[in-house]
Amino acid sequence: MTEQPNFHYFECNECGFSSVQKADFPDKYDECPLCALDSGHFVRMSRRVCDSSDRPEGFDAREA
Ligand SMILES: [Zn+2]
Repeated sequence: MTEQPNFHYFECNECGFSSVQKADFPDKYDECPLCALDSGHFVRMSRRVCDSSDRPEGFDAREA
């Protein structure tokens, strides 16, 4: 388990969707895309420093 401070791990507390973005990803885009699509809800995802063991369900900026 190694912290990856250049990346942040995002997780939606409503539906569990997760993704990894660069650490400078703007806060204003941190709403969950699945919740927005499913129900038109804007749900802000929780955010923390990424760990090497994180396996996001969605986009992974580490592979880009
Ligand atoms: Zn969601």
